[in-house]
Amino acid sequence: MNGYDALQTHIAQLSDLLNAISVLKWDARTNMPPGGAQTRGFQLATLSRVAQEHFVSDRTARLLDAAETEVAAEPADSYRVRAVKQTRQYYEIVRRIPVELTARKATLAPVSEQVWAEAKQKNDFASFAPYLQQMLDLVRQQAEAIGYSGHPFDALVFEYEPSVTAASLKVLFGELKAGLIPLLQRIVANDCPLERDLWQHEYPLDKQKAFGLEMAQRIGYDLERGRLDIAPHPFEISFTRQDVRITTRYNLNYLPMALYGTLHEAGHALYEQGVDPALTRTALTTDFLGQYPVGGTSYGAHESQSRLWENQIGRSRAFWEAHLDRLREIFPEQLAGVDPDLMYRSVNRVRPSLIRVEADEVTYNLHIMLRVEIEMALLEGNLKVSELPAFWNAKMQEYLGVTPPNDSKGVLQDVHWSGGGFGSFPGYTIGNIMSAQFLEAAYQQIPGLQDSLNAGDYAPLLGWLQHNVYRHGRAYDANELLVRSSGSPLRVAPYLAYLEGKFTELYHLP
Ligand code: ZN
Repeated sequence: MNGYDALQTHIAQLSDLLNAISVLKWDARTNMPPGGAQTRGFQLATLSRVAQEHFVSDRTARLLDAAETEVAAEPADSYRVRAVKQTRQYYEIVRRIPVELTARKATLAPVSEQVWAEAKQKNDFASFAPYLQQMLDLVRQQAEAIGYSGHPFDALVFEYEPSVTAASLKVLFGELKAGLIPLLQRIVANDCPLERDLWQHEYPLDKQKAFGLEMAQRIGYDLERGRLDIAPHPFEISFTRQDVRITTRYNLNYLPMALYGTLHEAGHALYEQGVDPALTRTALTTDFLGQYPVGGTSYGAHESQSRLWENQIGRSRAFWEAHLDRLREIFPEQLAGVDPDLMYRSVNRVRPSLIRVEADEVTYNLHIMLRVEIEMALLEGNLKVSELPAFWNAKMQEYLGVTPPNDSKGVLQDVHWSGGGFGSFPGYTIGNIMSAQFLEAAYQQIPGLQDSLNAGDYAPLLGWLQHNVYRHGRAYDANELLVRSSGSPLRVAPYLAYLEGKFTELYHLP
């Protein structure tokens, strides 16, 4: 076997191991009885070690050398060259992280997550603080091991968003803040109450599930290669493009929770299901640093698709013009007299609030910015863990004009830091910004796109996204995808224009 194919066979085995790990994780989060947690932890630790040893081996080094020689003269943007380049890049990075450090982080994470969950429930930050401190120390060591030229944050954000740095994020967030805060102030000043509260009735869960799945299929989610389950913290997970699963959670009264959870995760799933079949079990569908293989090129790129389908499509007026009749067939009594306009308003309410995951499109990114600022300050050593709750509350007041009544609804609300996920938050905001840039390009390039969206026909948009984004897997980074499809790297302007247009009309802003 020649150099490239031999490396490919080796990486395919790694991909199989990582996918098997993902199946165990999916099971743990959906079906596993509580008693299974400890032995599942052993199973995951063993498989993760086997996978890491497989990757960081002398064999990988030899195969890489041979493959690099073989593809040296091929075009720089070909899939083969990109696959070899990525394998090399991650091989060098993963090798720099001491196995001992990975093991300490992996051992601390489940304990720390459990302490965090209890602390959140009891509103007791002090009990979580020592674990957060330990995790922060390990994360700092990890940043030093990986190396960086500017800010330690750069080494950590690389895992999630390889094309950004602390410095580039500060510029991006500055631009975004300059547009978002005045818009939010105008909305708050013109706040108009809903004419009617739709969410006091009961919406039986089986019917909610049926409608959510119908809409997920409508946008293109293929159930031959997918399924929908329940999880308290909804997620999408794929074990190759042939098996891409989603989850959601239900509230008997508040129907939008399950529906938009389903559309969000289905958006992630469209990306995974749309990867070129030729990239299956290759480096271009493998997340060497992360915890499971993903076909998407970064967290931001992935999130751009979940947000696009959830918000820009699912929360549009056109969506409810096209689909409210169907929802009213399912819930005739609960939705009697409801028209698309009322539905549209009720799923787009903007209100400064405490909880990130429940935030609307305008305030959401402010929640992200304050978290990223906090992570950077913690890594710099300018903020102590003990000072976190007060710092958090002050930032909430500064950005959103609200102060959490307690730490459970403040600094303790997210799971990310307890598991060591520093650097993952920017992906959410970058995803929002990317989604608008992709959609702007799609409107320019697809004739009659608005007409098909009005008719509830998503095939033209899905086809465009598949061609420009999904099929490439991890072959091109987020900025390359944007340049290739829209002509320019990440720009804030299309996203701000989208929000301005939508909410000026919705709130009758002057
Ligand atoms: Zn998401």
